[in-house]
Amino acid sequence: MKRFTLLFAALFITLLTYAQQTILHCGKLIDTKNKTVLENVSVIITGNKITDVVKGYSNPGPADKVIDLKNKTVMPGLMDMHVHVETETKKGAAAERFSMNPQDIAFESVKYANVTLMAGFTTVRDLGGSGVNVSLRNAINKGLIVGPRIYTAGKSIATTGGHADPTNGYRKSLMGDPGPNEGVINGADEARKAVRQRYKDGSDLIKITATAGVLSQAKDALGAQFTDEEIKAIVETARDYGYKVAAHAHGAEGMKRAIRAGVTSIEHGTFMDDEAIELFKKHGAWYVPTIVAGKSVADSAKIPDYYSTLVTPKALAVGPKIQSTFTKAYKAGVKIAFGTDAGVYMHGKNWKEFVYMVEGGMPAIEAISSATVSASELLGTSEILGVIEKGKLADIVAVDGDPAKDINVMEKVVFVMKDGVIYKNR
Ligand SMILES: [Zn+2]
Repeated sequence: MKRFTLLFAALFITLLTYAQQTILHCGKLIDTKNKTVLENVSVIITGNKITDVVKGYSNPGPADKVIDLKNKTVMPGLMDMHVHVETETKKGAAAERFSMNPQDIAFESVKYANVTLMAGFTTVRDLGGSGVNVSLRNAINKGLIVGPRIYTAGKSIATTGGHADPTNGYRKSLMGDPGPNEGVINGADEARKAVRQRYKDGSDLIKITATAGVLSQAKDALGAQFTDEEIKAIVETARDYGYKVAAHAHGAEGMKRAIRAGVTSIEHGTFMDDEAIELFKKHGAWYVPTIVAGKSVADSAKIPDYYSTLVTPKALAVGPKIQSTFTKAYKAGVKIAFGTDAGVYMHGKNWKEFVYMVEGGMPAIEAISSATVSASELLGTSEILGVIEKGKLADIVAVDGDPAKDINVMEKVVFVMKDGVIYKNR
């Protein structure tokens, strides 16, 4: 018996020695934690984990695979904290709500998920859709389809007639009276029920629309849409379920109510004033800017009939303002996590946000840190994602060229690894 145990132990050790490793030889590697760039580094991957990061180009064992990224810049898998992976902008899209079945949405979302991963975004936070986003996440996790890790809010929570009331703009006989199940609440009790319903649906977090918004079929884009009592009920109930709360907000009043109630992040933050900035810092709330979406909707609004007559003036007025808000917030020391509102513009062009952030005054390596280590902190995944170091999951991407010299190279993602699996290697 003892001899068998020894034999098995010896066999196990032999197998360990020959376990295949993937070794990435990285010319440049971004240390997102210290916001520096290392040169000539090897990253060792076993299974789905990073097992070592060593100086120089280490030699492979007989069973190991080497990937040559010596003339690339390597960084952790990028993380976009604000996407809508179910849908994508197109002219007259508002009418699709009447023609598309959930199955049609699902098939389209498969394409968007794929495009997102190939653009180097290995993790995304989906901030609201029909609920197809929950199934999409599950299908990706099961390995049935290819896409990023998705942390999804399921259906956003709104108030009656508010941004994300799914029946806005319908004729009266079609409106019905959506409630907590559909993500529409009035009063604290319904607010609690809506959070619990998201839990039952399988959401990973909660999204609320704390103010009016640009793309809803309604006149206003800025006003507060939840009472203090309603937001408090949402945040407190969310805590019970281990949920963080993301709050869409353009106007300052709704933003302040949300921060005071303890939401984790403010999305867009367009009309952030000095008092709001102080509240961000006092409560440690994250700011997720989505500059690229603002610019994109303003551009689309110039195309005749792209949006409805209600939406067009809002897109023109609100969209272009986000970049200057970003600059103000960054200078004031507000915590910023990368997020783009992909879907509001074309999926896969998430990299453009980096260009606008750098244009807005943030150094390139800091912008990349906001899309890795900071995003991971916001998401609550710092133990596993956001940094290339021993013990983290092997989510790694590489670009041609040096983003510190030219941020536009973020478009040229040539290598994508998620969970130790290579999805792209050009
Ligand atoms: Zn959004």
